[in-house]
Amino acid sequence: MDLIGIYLREAIQESGCPVCKILKKYEEDIIGQILYEHVNNPSVREKFAESLGLCTYHAWKMKEIAYSNPLYGGLGVAIIYEHMLSIYINSLKSGKNLEEKKCYLCDLVETKEQHTIEALADRFSELIGDYKDSEAILCKKHYEELMPLLRKRSPKLADKLREIQIEKLERIKGLMRAFIEKFDYCSKETPTERETTSVLKAIESLKGLPLEVNFVKKQKPHSIFRGVFLGNRD
Ligand SMILES: [Zn+2]
Ligand SMILES: [Zn+2]
Repeated sequence: MDLIGIYLREAIQESGCPVCKILKKYEEDIIGQILYEHVNNPSVREKFAESLGLCTYHAWKMKEIAYSNPLYGGLGVAIIYEHMLSIYINSLKSGKNLEEKKCYLCDLVETKEQHTIEALADRFSELIGDYKDSEAILCKKHYEELMPLLRKRSPKLADKLREIQIEKLERIKGLMRAFIEKFDYCSKETPTERETTSVLKAIESLKGLPLEVNFVKKQKPHSIFRGVFLGNRD
């Protein structure tokens, strides 16, 4: 197995969605690098300026990471967002419309997501045993993204994953049932740790981790207005 395979295997041996887990770590690492060494990097600052300080999700994520780690602190965020604020103020003064482009962290994480799913599909024949035996559970979105790629490579492997996925979901459901039943007044037992965490696993298997890539993309309201006011020229 190559290095990427080993890296995927490590994620698969843990609990929860391995793809979500990889993306969460990737996102936190990039934000950490920005705060640690790129606060004053002009090309990074330019990328921030394009989206006027990232998307809402990543702006708050950056603030959360900065404030929760004394190594970063609030200074880097203050320097970056003071600059973003001055861009906004200048645009108001000049009366020029400020276009907010796509957040570059969203772009990076989406690309990483695609690469991770492809890498997983390429190596799944070697990883399926680890997946079956571990506490990992692909979230619905990442399962649905992996399946067509897997089916192209090996329909048999895709069918096998589907079987394993159902088994894993049934197991989580069983643990949740036991958790619920232990709240019955007749029950003398307290829920086990696996039963308690099964609730989190159920949410993660349906919705993935709270990452920007997992939020349902909504049509931006201003594009609807533009269609109405400009006679649908988009
Ligand atoms: Zn996932
Ligand atoms: Zn973003």
